[in-house]
Amino acid sequence: MTTLKAIRGTRDLLPAETGLWNRIEATARAVFARYNFGEIRTPVFEDTALFARGVGEETDIVSKEMYTWEDRARAQSEKTQSLTLRPENTAGVVRAYIEHKLGESGQLQKLYYIGPQFRRERPQRGRYRQFSQIGAEVIGPVSAGSESPLRDAEVLEMLATLLDELGISGWVLKLNSVGSATDRPKYIETLRAALLSVVGQMCPDCQRRAETNPLRVLDCKVPEDQPFIDALPKIADSLDQASRDHFAQVCAALDAAGVPYERDHRLVRGLDYYTRTTFEFTHGGLGAQNALLGGGRYDGLSELIGGPKAPGIGFAMGEDRLVLTLQALESPKITLLDAYIAPLGEAQNPVALTLARELRRQGLSIELGDGSFRLKKSFEAADKVARAIILLGEDEAQSGILTVKQFSSGVQTKVARADLAAHLTASRS
Ligand code: ATP
Ligand code: MG
Repeated sequence: MTTLKAIRGTRDLLPAETGLWNRIEATARAVFARYNFGEIRTPVFEDTALFARGVGEETDIVSKEMYTWEDRARAQSEKTQSLTLRPENTAGVVRAYIEHKLGESGQLQKLYYIGPQFRRERPQRGRYRQFSQIGAEVIGPVSAGSESPLRDAEVLEMLATLLDELGISGWVLKLNSVGSATDRPKYIETLRAALLSVVGQMCPDCQRRAETNPLRVLDCKVPEDQPFIDALPKIADSLDQASRDHFAQVCAALDAAGVPYERDHRLVRGLDYYTRTTFEFTHGGLGAQNALLGGGRYDGLSELIGGPKAPGIGFAMGEDRLVLTLQALESPKITLLDAYIAPLGEAQNPVALTLARELRRQGLSIELGDGSFRLKKSFEAADKVARAIILLGEDEAQSGILTVKQFSSGVQTKVARADLAAHLTASRS
């Protein structure tokens, strides 16, 4: 029989790695709570139309990366429907915001999510077909202050704090403004016109993008194209006064808070829905896939998918890339258990389980050996996973006085069963 394997671009995360994943998620949840964000969980699949409209038909995501299928009707009352595994979570969050009329509270909604996303891309380091994003959105009616540059600055400051608390040193924040919904078409025309004379000398992808989505030319990584791209008009010169003011206020708030950033005129991002502030945090340790996270403002997205006016700003971090970055920065930490209980003979197995139960219920981490093991084997097994070994023979079971050996000091002591938890806790530091 052929052996079955995980699908290309998907991975199993084993316990050696999931500890780090859980730490990242716990840190993110703790930071989000301090900034008054609540968690939202949306379905992993949605109506294909949500992404076609919300992300944009012209984007790489929608045009070539989505997992889409025709979901057959199971009953007369059902229709066959085109469904898609979510390639990103902002569209789903905004759909939920509209569906549950969250705007009617008049309050700003601060929502975060953690979960898998799916894109059919060429798998490589830091790029998978199922990957996990940690993201957040601040969205609400204009009267709640959702358009304010303070919100942009707060989100960016929160990200700087989160990355610092995760222990990711050396991140770079790249910042730009792509202007309002009216600035962008103006710039696209300027860009299209400027490209006419040079695009013939550029790569085939750029030649295609110049026709379909000229903004994407700015994303091109082909080295020979770079001088042409650097000479193209900058989007900053097409912004109206209101967008310039908005951006200046975002920068001023970041300066005041001491959050460092770099202005990047080419940062226009792949998604059609962005307006005004766009940003990326990158890290040198990631190589070619150097973006840790991306985000921006999306003032027109809600209306694009049939909702009320609800400006917003958000980001999505690649959790897989956070893990890769941290794995490169820190040596793996091994957490040892408080103790390993070694029953000396199979008759002691039930007593050993009972003792383990007592200690575990008191909050200690315990591994349980087996009475069929020889003493040498028990010691070897214990030394790998725990700070101490507890020997449990017939005498110990009867007297209630146990032999405990601490591996770090080599000291062996007799401890009464009732004092065991306190003894093990005291030896933690
Ligand atoms: P890239 O330019 O790397 O393809 P993107 O612009 O497609 O990124 P976004 O849609 O902005 O990425 O997603 C936000 C973040 O999610 C990225 O910065 C990255 O960290 C992560 N990400 C995106 N696609 C993948 C993937 N296929 N595998 C792992 N992480 C991903
Ligand atoms: Mg991509």
